[in-house]
Amino acid sequence: MIVDVVVAAGGQGRRLGGDVAKQWLTIGDRTIFERSVEACAASPRVRGIVAVVPAVDLEPARALAMAAAGTKFLAIVPGGARRQDSVAAGLAAVPGDADVVLVHDAARPFVSAAVFDRVIDAAASSGVAIAAARVHDTVKHVIGEGGRRWVDGTIPRDDLALAQTPQGFRRDALAVLLPSMTAPDEVTDEASLAERCGYRVEVVEGHPDNVKITTEDDLRRARRLLAGDAPGLPTTRIGLGYDSHRFAEDRRLYVGGVHVPGTRGLAGHSDGDAVCHAVTDAVLGAAGIGDIGGLFPDTDPAWKDADSLALLRDAFGRVRAAGWRVGNVDIVVICHRPRIGPLASAIRASLAGALATTPDRIGVKGKTPEGTSALEDAMIVHVVALLER
Ligand code: MG
Repeated sequence: MIVDVVVAAGGQGRRLGGDVAKQWLTIGDRTIFERSVEACAASPRVRGIVAVVPAVDLEPARALAMAAAGTKFLAIVPGGARRQDSVAAGLAAVPGDADVVLVHDAARPFVSAAVFDRVIDAAASSGVAIAAARVHDTVKHVIGEGGRRWVDGTIPRDDLALAQTPQGFRRDALAVLLPSMTAPDEVTDEASLAERCGYRVEVVEGHPDNVKITTEDDLRRARRLLAGDAPGLPTTRIGLGYDSHRFAEDRRLYVGGVHVPGTRGLAGHSDGDAVCHAVTDAVLGAAGIGDIGGLFPDTDPAWKDADSLALLRDAFGRVRAAGWRVGNVDIVVICHRPRIGPLASAIRASLAGALATTPDRIGVKGKTPEGTSALEDAMIVHVVALLER
């Protein structure tokens, strides 16, 4: 029996990752997408894999899909506007000799070969089959009234199943299903289309670990599951940042994104904001994803007079996409002028905005060189940053 899989990663939902669609977020060292493709390829029953990704991501995703699927890579195709359009595009790229085609959601990276076996066998015998989880909580039907919610009844949970993927379709079922996918009404899984086409859909046991990563909590749990960390305990990483710039005439002074009038500014290719530079290095270092010089080279004219707070925001977006949030950041600024104390609360607020955190997690204190530094006419900044996930 020839079995191929369509891995559906056509969605562009950015709810989870800020600037990044969720399939490109990482769990450990690999994206959710790669892990899902790998999990499909790990099933010995699967011959080949077709991936569907947003058109804008097609080229970078091709290398990821080829590496993750290995010899089982068949094709990667651009998705459509709706989930069912993306899946239809994937199904169209599956070779005609497949006996059973599975559709698997790329947001479910923890699917096991045993679940694949059950869906493949059931689809081969029944035409259409889905993996589903049992419902363990008591399920209430709820109605809204007067701005509050009220129980309207209790639904027998033995009659319920939570649909997962993979969902499997025998070749004859696919032939019936495909034309229905272009219909104007939108569905959230392919099995519902099969139901409408008159198929009896067989339900086989999924697995509680085969979760769909939808919320920040799911992502955090998935990362902990993989890291083997004790549940509930945050993983932490620490980073150190340092920068120094000399004072110069005819420059505006920026300290942590705050413009300080009436004082000489700092020399530099960018706006010279040494606090932002040191914080950027500290958070990048803690996340293990490089440094400011690598991301924004001072040989690149693009960063001439650049707004360093914007660079920090950009860098922290990458830190966040790798799964980290700020535990705390502590900053020491060494200079004669300006006096840092009166600026501290403005600096903390400014940095908190760029680091998606609150000012109470950011410390700023000033020190004077007291004649001990060879860099008397400079601003020197030390930063330590703790990241959590
Ligand atoms: Mg610098």
